[in-house]
Amino acid sequence: MADRTINFSAGPCTLPLEVLEEAQSEFVDYHGAGMSLIEMSHRGAHYDAVHQEALQLTREVAGLPDDFEVLFVQGGASLQFAMAPMNLLATGESAAFAVTGAWAEKAVEDAGHHGDAYVAWDGSDEGYARTPSAGDLDLRDGTRYLHVCTNETIGGIRFPEIPQVDVPLVGDVSSEFLSRPLPWDRFDLVFGGVQKNLGPAGMAVVFVRKSVLESGNRDLAAYLRYDVHASKESLYNTPPVFTIWMTGKVLKWMQAQGGLAAIEAAAERKAALVYDVIDGSDGYFRSPVDAGHRSVMNVVWRLPSEDLEAQFLKEASAHGMSGLKGHRSVGGLRASIYNAMPESGVQALADLMRDFADRHPA
Ligand code: PMP
Repeated sequence: MADRTINFSAGPCTLPLEVLEEAQSEFVDYHGAGMSLIEMSHRGAHYDAVHQEALQLTREVAGLPDDFEVLFVQGGASLQFAMAPMNLLATGESAAFAVTGAWAEKAVEDAGHHGDAYVAWDGSDEGYARTPSAGDLDLRDGTRYLHVCTNETIGGIRFPEIPQVDVPLVGDVSSEFLSRPLPWDRFDLVFGGVQKNLGPAGMAVVFVRKSVLESGNRDLAAYLRYDVHASKESLYNTPPVFTIWMTGKVLKWMQAQGGLAAIEAAAERKAALVYDVIDGSDGYFRSPVDAGHRSVMNVVWRLPSEDLEAQFLKEASAHGMSGLKGHRSVGGLRASIYNAMPESGVQALADLMRDFADRHPA
């Protein structure tokens, strides 16, 4: 397919072409059933096989230890901003937040509706140019967990190392989902919306430590309880069958790529193609974030003027690229280089950047 757009959108975003084509070939008549998968009961044998396989593949690709459950929950990562404090916080406990950008800001604000949520570190004064180290975090007594957004999608920063502190972590990994291994022993809960690295929009994958299910708050509506989702194997109610089906296919594709280690290596390589152009441009391109904290999923950068940024977007579009406009709150440019973005797409972007800088001096 020669005319496929090089899609740098922040999510929903590019998915592996092989996965789209496979789904297309199975779509109308699923395995000879005379109907599509999305028309079938979610309690039937066909869907059950898809569901169980997707749960198992998630566990395998993540390298998840046995003391964690995998849950598929609708409402995206945003609902997890509420479900985490609802389920984890007991009376008298508080939740700490490392406020590293727009997504951590949202999380602390939402948690405040469900318990005592406080800011343990705030990067806004530094323009969210870096993430904190463990020593920067101001944790109070009675803290149940520390929330970290491991990769800030809008600001383009990530934690180079996941901090090790005296309380368990809750991690929002939405925009770097399954792109690097996680130190599971530090976490009680990890979640992410699937619509970047794992599949189409429609749910969050939640990894929750089993001990949390035993001790968690039960005075909640059923759908909001992690233990309910766990005991029903994410079939408490009608699940987003299309999303889960596609996510399973993407996970299989990830295994075929060589799994997490290969995906991580590819992500580092792809991001370096763009960062090398930025760093080698004598200040023509500028990265607003500290070099050691740069995201490898969401690369953000500026040009010498907004006019040149607009011109760059125009030329990128003429070269078959889309989704490069920075988030409206920060401006500039952003390339979201998720797992399914081929290296050739990033190379095309890097080539255009070099060529553009030559043709349009500051
Ligand atoms: N956290 C991060 C880091 C995100 O990038 C996003 C979405 N861009 C969200 C949370 C919210 O995810 P959702 O749209 O699935 O609710």
